[in-house]
Amino acid sequence: GKLVFRFGDGKADGEAGMKNLLGGKGANLAEMANLGLPVPPGFTITTEVCTNFYKNDRTYPKALGPDVDAALSEVGRIVGATFGDAGNPLLVSVRSGARASMPGMMDTVLNLGLNDETVEGLAKHAKDRRFAYDSYRRFIHMYSDVVLGVEHHQFEDILGEYKDEKAFGLDTDLTAEDWLKVIAKYKACVEKATGKPFPQDVKEQLWGAIGAVFQSWMSARANTYRRLHNIPEDWGTAVNVQAMVFGNLGDSSATGVAFTRNPSTGTHELYGEFLVNAQGEDVVAGIRTPQNITEAARIEAGSKAPSLEKLMPETYTELVRTFAQLEKHYRDMQDMEFTIQSGKLWMLQTRAGKRTAKAALKIAVDLANEGLISREEAVRRIDPASLDQLLHPTLDPSAKRDIIGQGLPASPGAASGEIVFDSDEAEKLKEQGRNVILVRVETSPEDIHGMHAAEGILTTRGGMTSHAAVVARGMGKPCVSGAGSIRVDYRQATLTALGTVLKKGDIVTIDGSTGQVMKGAVPTIKPELSGDFAIIMEWADKARRMKVRANAETPLDARAARDFGAEGIGLCRTEHMFFEADRIVAMREMILASDEKGRRAALAKILPMQRQDFIELFEIMAGLPVTIRLLDPPLHEFLPHSEEEIAEVAAVIGVTPDVLRARVADLHEFNPMLGHRGVRLAVSYPEIAEMQARAIFEAAAEVGRKTGAPPIPEVMVPLVASKAELDIVRDRIVAIADEVRKETGAKLDYLVGTMIELPRAALRAAEIAQTAEFFSFGTNDLTQTTFGISRDDSARFLGEYTAKGVFKTDPFVTLDTEGVGELVQIAADRGRSTRADIKLGICGEHGGDPASIQFCETVGLDYVSCSPFRVPIARLAAAQSAL
Ligand code: ADP
Ligand code: MG
Ligand code: MG
Repeated sequence: GKLVFRFGDGKADGEAGMKNLLGGKGANLAEMANLGLPVPPGFTITTEVCTNFYKNDRTYPKALGPDVDAALSEVGRIVGATFGDAGNPLLVSVRSGARASMPGMMDTVLNLGLNDETVEGLAKHAKDRRFAYDSYRRFIHMYSDVVLGVEHHQFEDILGEYKDEKAFGLDTDLTAEDWLKVIAKYKACVEKATGKPFPQDVKEQLWGAIGAVFQSWMSARANTYRRLHNIPEDWGTAVNVQAMVFGNLGDSSATGVAFTRNPSTGTHELYGEFLVNAQGEDVVAGIRTPQNITEAARIEAGSKAPSLEKLMPETYTELVRTFAQLEKHYRDMQDMEFTIQSGKLWMLQTRAGKRTAKAALKIAVDLANEGLISREEAVRRIDPASLDQLLHPTLDPSAKRDIIGQGLPASPGAASGEIVFDSDEAEKLKEQGRNVILVRVETSPEDIHGMHAAEGILTTRGGMTSHAAVVARGMGKPCVSGAGSIRVDYRQATLTALGTVLKKGDIVTIDGSTGQVMKGAVPTIKPELSGDFAIIMEWADKARRMKVRANAETPLDARAARDFGAEGIGLCRTEHMFFEADRIVAMREMILASDEKGRRAALAKILPMQRQDFIELFEIMAGLPVTIRLLDPPLHEFLPHSEEEIAEVAAVIGVTPDVLRARVADLHEFNPMLGHRGVRLAVSYPEIAEMQARAIFEAAAEVGRKTGAPPIPEVMVPLVASKAELDIVRDRIVAIADEVRKETGAKLDYLVGTMIELPRAALRAAEIAQTAEFFSFGTNDLTQTTFGISRDDSARFLGEYTAKGVFKTDPFVTLDTEGVGELVQIAADRGRSTRADIKLGICGEHGGDPASIQFCETVGLDYVSCSPFRVPIARLAAAQSAL
């Protein structure tokens, strides 16, 4: 295929739809050129060249050289300059650009094409020697760092020393002559470090930079990022070569970044920062404090530095118009880079802007209301997993706050934890189950793992677009950036704020929504689930087919589930109800009883308590379906294990410790997961199932009498492998229901069904469905039993399995659609073959996982059931899979 795609001068070979081939940056540069926007001309070397580069022993196709030469002279023709020409040199940037944006992972080289000769041509042509030397020193620094591997700090040290010597404060204090001297020192440094003089041949420079971009695709940093974000290695990166425009050409020049809407709140306002007389990444690097673009933002920030709106009103107007055009064209919030050269605006990048979950909701709702996208599209745009951020607590406004510092509200949410200053340490403490706040002067890509481990991030330098801010927003972690009044001392491991000295390990709280930093832990409150959240949920509910239920057994969980919009309970684990102090005694008496009579006596004590449990659940769920699973775990789990406990419990129950110890030993199993549990318990001790069925039906009768709306309980038998097992238990349940009907006169509707959590049950589903009126896929156990992997023991090797690519994702988190999924499909098909209207649901952890929910839709399940906090995520994911 074509190796090089050109853009510029109002047209382009590519367009926005070609991200796979051109990378995100290249595709959007082409699109902007096609739109007639001011884009410096250039060309994109495709991702295929990168992929083939690695396939073919790091070599290029033969045609690449001539293609690049031709594209480069076309760029020169448009600009009116020539690459390497001593009189009027064309300078270019060499920029990487993968399909998915990988912030900070790939390095860009600016001002390429400068050497000792062309720099003089640039000076003469621009009539500005200082500008030319400033550009050259930047180029030597960047190129040597990125391409030649000379350490970045060496150049900073040279510059720092020079400024100290001359008592200069800012880079802008240096004159042309000063830069010349710095350049000489830089070149000497490169020659010393590499054993070769800095390359003067501009073609050597160009191919060096192109090669460096391709090489960086396999750098350690890029590999880590790809692993964390599931980006395949074979996607490759594109290389963009583009004519330079100069934001460092004096005071009518500038460079900046902007969002068309506020990425933290979603508010429709131009949001961004810029620097006068600056280039490239100066804005995000935190070298100087950037200025606000709009006057409104400047006033709100209380900044004295003039806004772009005031400083360059005409360019500002064009900027606003261009941004609006881009947003309308892409029908989404844009994140853009621009440069102003002598008052003229140039667009250097646009992409869909990263945003917080809160902003994503607001932007989607607003865009739909503005008519730019449909409501379905708005629903599709929200990442279900991101809702998690909104379901987390924020600071209690009435709680006392001991504020010790103020930074920028870089990423919303509140968090408390121990102060750590080092990312490795943050990771270590997290593994010990401790909550930490990562405190850094600023963060870099080397801190990603520490940021992952931390509850929140606090930096003392950098703006709203600093690395810490951007990455934290992406991760949904609270972040306060640029808290300038706080001083960090890495060596002493202390931070000083308002005269208070805090040490490593001291507790702080940060509020990423206000930028406040507080001493100690501040209490938090539940989030507000109204506004844009409620609107998107309403639109999602209209779009989805599957119902969403919750896994809940306590009234507290059941109420939370209702608040989050659950449409019933998909799994009530009755064993959780037996662990409470007053019940466990009766439960243990039951287990220790020597015969059925003794067991029934103990069970009679549990019955009223269990009935009360169900009454509460039925009342909270008011007419919605409630699936109740009969006792599932092995009885051994209810008995004490240490000698101390055994002695204590024996006294309470009135047996000797020896009797109790003997029963504990008796019930011991080598592999309880595959032992005497689930339906097997009900077959051996039918009286337990009978007590539970009675509690369920009596509760249903009572709630029916009280409310006039009798609930329809779904009685679920766990761990069934064969129809015969289920038949035994079902007969008992039906008999009890008949008894309760007779006793109470209630009408009583109910269903009896089973969990499908053993491969045999899936295979024999046709037969089982003759008895079972519903199936609920217990995919936690089904995953264990299909893989033959115990969930509790898998942690030891699961990491290695994912690292080595055996598992793409943890099968306990995302359903293995190929294996476990095939069993689910088989069971659904065979179940329907004998009972066409069989009700199908899922109640494993997977019921709250968006990718797994997608699969449930394809199988045509009637509902998914998940933990209460995941209900909104499941509602949205179910809607997206139906759309
Ligand atoms: P990143 O992906 O890290 O943002 P970019 O390639 O976008 O890297 O560029 C880094 C910086 O250099 C950005 O601020 C960008 O606007 C600037 N830049 C890139 N190419 C040019 C160019 N041709 N002229 C002027 N500035 C440029
Ligand atoms: Mg970068
Ligand atoms: Mg960029």
